[in-house]
Amino acid sequence: MNSQLPRNTRIVIAGGGVIGCSVAWNLAQLGCSDVVVIEKGQVGCGTTWHSAGNIIRMSTDPAAVQIFSESARIIAELHERHDIGWRQCGRVMLARSEQRMQELEDVMRVLERLDVSVEQISPSAVKEKLPIMNVDDILGALFSPGDGRVDPTALTNAYRKEAKDNGVVFLEGVEVYRAIEQNGRVSAVETDQGTIQCEVMVNCAGMWARHLGLANNIDIPLYPVEHFYVLTETMEGVYADMPTFRDPDGLIYGREEVGGLLLGCFDRNAIPVGIEDLPQPFEFSLLNENWDQFMPYMAQGIQRIPALKEVGIRSLVNGPESFTPDAEAHFDQAEKLANYFVLAGLSSSGVTRSGGMGRALAKWIMHGEPELDISSFKLTRFGSECNEETYLRKVVRNMPSGHFSLES
Ligand SMILES: Cc1cc2nc3c(=O)[nH]c(=O)nc-3n(C[C@H](O)[C@H](O)[C@H](O)COP(=O)(O)OP(=O)(O)OC[C@H]3O[C@@H](n4cnc5c(N)ncnc54)[C@H](O)[C@@H]3O)c2cc1C
Repeated sequence: MNSQLPRNTRIVIAGGGVIGCSVAWNLAQLGCSDVVVIEKGQVGCGTTWHSAGNIIRMSTDPAAVQIFSESARIIAELHERHDIGWRQCGRVMLARSEQRMQELEDVMRVLERLDVSVEQISPSAVKEKLPIMNVDDILGALFSPGDGRVDPTALTNAYRKEAKDNGVVFLEGVEVYRAIEQNGRVSAVETDQGTIQCEVMVNCAGMWARHLGLANNIDIPLYPVEHFYVLTETMEGVYADMPTFRDPDGLIYGREEVGGLLLGCFDRNAIPVGIEDLPQPFEFSLLNENWDQFMPYMAQGIQRIPALKEVGIRSLVNGPESFTPDAEAHFDQAEKLANYFVLAGLSSSGVTRSGGMGRALAKWIMHGEPELDISSFKLTRFGSECNEETYLRKVVRNMPSGHFSLES
């Protein structure tokens, strides 16, 4: 038994990534600090540290826009007190086809209805904001001034620091094995270093959440895939407060990073990564560069930003990110185990959703209501056959690019 391990607490959070830390921070903000966050490595060592950190506001889904708005409010609040690398530089969303233009109009309608600023702009206005861009094949774009980027590690540390200052306990180097059940409810959490009595367990274990869920026969269908961006050397015309951009028809996005460009993709036929195939321990680690997979998107990047052809590449960052079978997060309470909550499978939007979804989950735990329409996040939207590894390895291949699909 680890002597640091408390004997009891009200809430145990498994996983100290941006999601677990946000849930802890939000609980503390709502007045509950009787919380222990248990992290098997170090806080932020999973997927969070290598995130691109884009903070977004645009979606055709009103529930998502509300989550993004709450996250933006929290980011602005934390930015007042901490250096979280927040830059509200805005974001340009491009359209190459009439169908995409139609989608942008839908986005605009939803944002306007929810009082979120957004502006339709012409290709020449895009060029003014992003002079490095080729806009010859662009029909139009949206500009969302509230978008920006953060340093994901700094954001996670800000959540942690304030939660800790308010009394939340963070334990690193401790692994959660499972929840212990009594009369259909969580009564304790078993770790590799002893057991903590508690009323609530929250599974925020990122790409490990499925394995952790299985220890209690809870299906949390998600699976990691390789997920990438390149970082270039310094480029002329790339400036610090340059808007971030998304070019969904090319499956690429980008932004400034230390004077160069960060160019990322949501690839087709993504490559699944088994947890058991990761080097151990997989803390602050990356996968090998995979240029074969990235090259089609580099070509898209060059089409959009011709100067990319000439610039040196610093690195191809390849890290696993878990996707669910519909690329939507799991945000729910387990059907057969009361007070076992899940927030995982953020499908490449965990940093931007951390504040809003963390707040909704904290409210649910504290007040018995998430105050959010959770129908699209429920675990039961999938049958247990969808938690089979063979199925997941197949279906997640289409999920990153599905994010930008016009059919979905
Ligand atoms: C290349 C790339 C670019 C991205 N860009 C963006 C972006 O621009 N914007 C955005 O919003 N998102 C982005 N994402 C996605 C985002 O990084 C993730 O959605 C987010 O970091 C997930 O956070 P998490 O806390 O759920 O998972 P993690 O950060 O992985 O945290 C889970 C933690 O749980 C711990 N853990 C696991 N099992 C246990 C256990 N049994 N006991 C105790 N601890 C355990 C792990 O060690 C880990 O630290 C990107 C991801 C990648 C890979």
